[in-house]
Amino acid sequence: MRILLVEDDTLLGDALHAGLRQAGHAVDWVRDGVSAETALIAEDYAAMVLDLGLPRLGGLDVLRHLRQKQKTLPVLILTARDTVDDRIRGLDAGADDYLIKPFDLGELNARLRALLRRAGGQPAPVLAAAGITLDPATRHVEYEGNEIELSAKEYDLLHVLMQQAGRALSRAQLEQHLYAWGDEIGSNTVEVYIHHLRRKLGADAIRTMRGIGYVVPKTAGTP
Ligand code: CA
Repeated sequence: MRILLVEDDTLLGDALHAGLRQAGHAVDWVRDGVSAETALIAEDYAAMVLDLGLPRLGGLDVLRHLRQKQKTLPVLILTARDTVDDRIRGLDAGADDYLIKPFDLGELNARLRALLRRAGGQPAPVLAAAGITLDPATRHVEYEGNEIELSAKEYDLLHVLMQQAGRALSRAQLEQHLYAWGDEIGSNTVEVYIHHLRRKLGADAIRTMRGIGYVVPKTAGTP
């Protein structure tokens, strides 16, 4: 999933960037509030990890502006231990969750999974559609009960399609989810991954909607 990371501390930002990427996310990292707002306008993120103490424009203002625009993007704020008022203000300004520094990367990723699940309208931890099950916590995929080995990008692509099962996503929308700034995108990469996924999951697992994009049907055999 495409994540916006907003953190001005270089050491912490580096660790977060690496940890989120290792969890399979495409991560854009900015270090101040103004750059965060620019990124939010330019890109379509699945979630934002937001530090509150930021140069140029504070995290609370970024959050308030986002919610004023009626954007429902899940936001997890990062706060210092002794600032309970910040956490209350952050939650009241529209944050969905918070973590107190220092925190464990495993917990951050678990909380993000929970936020992404709720945002996708998927209350169950394991996604299921069209005979496929996908577990974001373990990145295990099964098709009709058999475990399927996928590359990191194949998994990410399937995850996005499964999270929005029944809805067609265009190549451009899929690229938005899969690639961060600076990532190389080949001209036909999405098509190649779709081809690989069909080879592994069966030709009907992912349908092509002509002129629209790709869809994982909610149940096997229906569009
Ligand atoms: Ca800070």
